[in-house]
Amino acid sequence: MKKIGLLGATGSIGSQTLQILREQPAWQLSFLSIHKSLDKLPALIEEFRPNYVLITDEETFRQAGALPVPVYGPQDFVRVLEQAEVDVLLNAIVGTSGLSATYHWVKWGRDLALANKESLVSAGKLITDLTKQSGARLLPVDSEHSAIWQSLQGNDPRSVSRILLTASGGAFRDRSYQEIRSLKARDALRHPNWSMGQKITIDSATLINKGLEVMEAKWLFDVALDQIEVLIHKESIIHSMVEYHDGAIMAQLGVPDMKLPIQYALSYPERLETDWPRLDWSHIKSLNFDKPDLQRFPGLSLCYDAMKQGGSMPLVLNVANEHFVAQYLQDKIGFYDITEGISETMSRHRLIQDPSVEDLLNLEKDLRKRLQSQ
Ligand code: NAD
Ligand code: MG
Repeated sequence: MKKIGLLGATGSIGSQTLQILREQPAWQLSFLSIHKSLDKLPALIEEFRPNYVLITDEETFRQAGALPVPVYGPQDFVRVLEQAEVDVLLNAIVGTSGLSATYHWVKWGRDLALANKESLVSAGKLITDLTKQSGARLLPVDSEHSAIWQSLQGNDPRSVSRILLTASGGAFRDRSYQEIRSLKARDALRHPNWSMGQKITIDSATLINKGLEVMEAKWLFDVALDQIEVLIHKESIIHSMVEYHDGAIMAQLGVPDMKLPIQYALSYPERLETDWPRLDWSHIKSLNFDKPDLQRFPGLSLCYDAMKQGGSMPLVLNVANEHFVAQYLQDKIGFYDITEGISETMSRHRLIQDPSVEDLLNLEKDLRKRLQSQ
């Protein structure tokens, strides 16, 4: 029996994880967290019978009435996590709010299936240093990173020359700069290939998601930034590739469906049988590749800039991005105001070279407050 803890159970990744659990009777959900979706909790408890639940939003925690299992609020979050008797934790919280869980879990030397890329991006050095000290394993859930991980199996990581990180290009891939300027969040939410949470779907349209993934790949696979090449691949069939010193390229292909990378992170090193749809080769006429257009999608350059500056800057980029994406989702700002807002926030920030986790958590709180009061 494999015991699993799930943070962010009501989201896109969370719900797909629950679908997998329905298909794997030998896996047991020990606990789960929700943030605000209290209405979904009774049914989740009824179906999955977790030992307890965590509610990460203070107000929602106060509103939760009597439930058939113990319920813990944000004050008890770290203490309850520390005592959790699970084999693997899946962090499927969205945004930098996932940092505390990632940080603590890794510090305790435990296996973490990581969907929450923002935590690794915001505190990459700190977290990877901790994994080396504690022996914790980071099991990638992001589809590209899962593909890279799968393409690394059985090979010596020292013989990797390049990582080819594929990108769908997002909802505005084929639109001109003039068109994109006036397109709304509802247009960006129509992603051509993947069905995901709102924030990551907008990140996909700005290419910030790909920038975050470049940083995520750098930290997960210990490669230099110039060893990672982003390739626009509109079919989303090749989920990423690894090129080796001898010129060989290994890739992982499949239908665009997050269930496979989620399940692989939880079953690793085993592969479990599934009856999910397979690639239909008779329908694939061509696979296309292109360079990203940095004029139309300046978000990718901002991510490179944040990564090169290092220290606290990637966290600042993340928090600013969350803020401006939320504004765009409410139609309060235009598409290019997201990247302009991030750029301005970054230029105003006084870099902390080697931040501690407390520095980062404080900075996150202060910056959120400041951005909201603007
Ligand atoms: P989502 O918005 O659908 O779900 C987010 C979850 O986080 C929800 O359960 C929500 O209740 C919880 N949450 C929100 N704010 C929180 C907070 N402040 N504290 C604690 N919990 C909070 O998001 P998603 O699309 O499932 O993405 C989750 C993570 O996985 C993100 O980091 C995203 O980048 C990554 N990811 C998602 C996909 C995908 O297909 N959806 C693919 C790759 C990576
Ligand atoms: Mg991805």
